[in-house]
Amino acid sequence: MAGLDPANWRDIREIGHRMLDEVFDRMEHVGEGPVWRPMPSAARQALKEGLPENGHSLDDLYERYRDLVVPYGVGNTHPGFMGWVHGAGTPVGMLAEMLAAGLNANCGGRDHAPIEVEREVIRWALQMTGMPQSGSGCLVTGSSMANFIGVIAASRAQDLAIRQDGLGNRGLVGYAATTAHGCLPRAFDLAGLGSSALRRVPVMSDHRMDVTALATMIEADRKAGLVPFMVAGTAGTVDCGAIDDLAAIGAVARAAGLWLHVDAAFGALACLSERFRPRLDGIENADSLAFDFHKWAQVPYDAGCVLVRDSAKHAAAFAQSLDYLVREDRGLAAGAPWFCDFGPDLSRGFRALKVWMTLGHYGARRMGEMVDACCDVAGDLARRIEKTDGLVLLAPVTLNIVCFGIEGLEDREVSELVQDLHESGIAAPSTTRINGRLAVRAAIVNHRTTTVHTNRMLDALIALRDDRLQAQTAR
Ligand SMILES: *Cc1c(COP(=O)(O)O)cnc(C)c1O
Repeated sequence: MAGLDPANWRDIREIGHRMLDEVFDRMEHVGEGPVWRPMPSAARQALKEGLPENGHSLDDLYERYRDLVVPYGVGNTHPGFMGWVHGAGTPVGMLAEMLAAGLNANCGGRDHAPIEVEREVIRWALQMTGMPQSGSGCLVTGSSMANFIGVIAASRAQDLAIRQDGLGNRGLVGYAATTAHGCLPRAFDLAGLGSSALRRVPVMSDHRMDVTALATMIEADRKAGLVPFMVAGTAGTVDCGAIDDLAAIGAVARAAGLWLHVDAAFGALACLSERFRPRLDGIENADSLAFDFHKWAQVPYDAGCVLVRDSAKHAAAFAQSLDYLVREDRGLAAGAPWFCDFGPDLSRGFRALKVWMTLGHYGARRMGEMVDACCDVAGDLARRIEKTDGLVLLAPVTLNIVCFGIEGLEDREVSELVQDLHESGIAAPSTTRINGRLAVRAAIVNHRTTTVHTNRMLDALIALRDDRLQAQTAR
């Protein structure tokens, strides 16, 4: 038998339609059942089969998928999911993924329509953040990769010879607040700069970067013979959603001749909210910006995005000239610059379609309203925490993240309570540390989460706490 297409298209069409119906059934009832449940070891074991010598029928495989995979997902589509920063997806995004898989386009380059869709999506992202339309960008796995590309672009803009010669003893240093995401020091590590070359700037009591300290640190590093080249502000910190003063950081960066990078992994979407856009003032001055469509924009995983103000500098940092990737004026090999000129990936999927269809369908206004609604839910949760004995807000609620402590419990016990809550299947917040203290952290990124779900989470947490305290006094 040559080729891999089905002998009988009618059969595969039938099971395909059944799969689609069942996906819609699950989506329609996504809030029913537990947020998450532990995967039994029998199910884990059942997935260990070894490389199959002979294939299985699609019916068999689909059944195994339904039994072994579907019940034990992350839970981020469920409205009770409030952990970390996870988007929830939409039925529209799901359909777009299916269409993109059907097309199976390679978006590394060449002259074809999917590339034009990605270019349009990048123009939307530039417009959303207020960056100039002359900028460039590309879709990547996530903000970890987008921040990495930002660091590479910034260092190459500082000195393009790095591409050939390596970093040597250039003494390049960058700056980000102590609250910056761990992917930034990792980007410095991966870039060969070393994670200690990312200076951590202290934050003020409002969890935003101390911009005066930033200016002092740049000065001190210069005096010590180092070469400051970039500063990264954060729009929406991962721990509590604080927004650095991007305008002030930008002014310091400009005065010192530094590249301004912004990590706006989820915060970028607040640009679409009339209420929150003013807090992001200065984001439009970014030389590079990293954010995710798969978080607050609800596009299915994965869909990160990097934007660069100066497209020539962006391409200069990544483009290569290779005999087997030659660009022509016409034919399929035309259409330069290619997306492989803007990042480390050559082969790239058609991520743009799910972004184009999601934003295209819901529109900027409705996405902004969804952001507002998430922040309203967070605000309501924060007010309830303030009114509840034994609970204490540990950080101001700027956007959609609520961090709170539980009085009378040690850090270890708070973390156990959250694990109990996960195993109850009722809700899934996560934890973080705020000023050294363990916090329960509810991030309302899911468009399906309402106060019904945050109330349910808090009620369950309080009941679990009371059980624990009671058991302690009984002992
Ligand atoms: C989630 C997040 C990241 C990392 O993004 P990924 O898409 O998970 O790679 C970086 N910075 C912030 C502020 C984030 O919230």
